[in-house]
Amino acid sequence: MPHNELSTGYQSTADTSFILEAACRNHDTRIFIDETDTNIRQARKICDTCPVTQDCLEYGLSLPTSTMGVYAGLTSRQLNKMRVAQQTVFVRHGTYAGYCKERRHNLPICDPCRQANTQYHVEKKRRRG
Ligand code: SF4
Ligand SMILES: [Zn+2]
Repeated sequence: MPHNELSTGYQSTADTSFILEAACRNHDTRIFIDETDTNIRQARKICDTCPVTQDCLEYGLSLPTSTMGVYAGLTSRQLNKMRVAQQTVFVRHGTYAGYCKERRHNLPICDPCRQANTQYHVEKKRRRG
């Protein structure tokens, strides 16, 4: 969620209209900013049900490395790892292939990729009847 303004004072010019559909919009922002173990667990549960994880991830990755907080189920540390990797590994987030690449390169699994993986297996099972 676009809570970076609160944590860093950084004003993003990115499109944040996805927040209107965000699962976190009616939750306490502090859960997403204060990265304690309990908060992270709680934030991830909310992200897991969010329909706009892909937008949120792109937004989160576009923010400066000093940004604190959870985006698309990833902590600031994981997002930083992802930012560094972005320069060498191209991951199409929100796809099964993206999920596989994250696994292969030992990257944090983002929520859009996790959701795509779940979907992939659901469809595979359905095809098999
Ligand atoms: S993925 Fe998580 S942090 Fe991002 S908008 Fe959705 S609920 Fe909020
Ligand atoms: Zn991903």
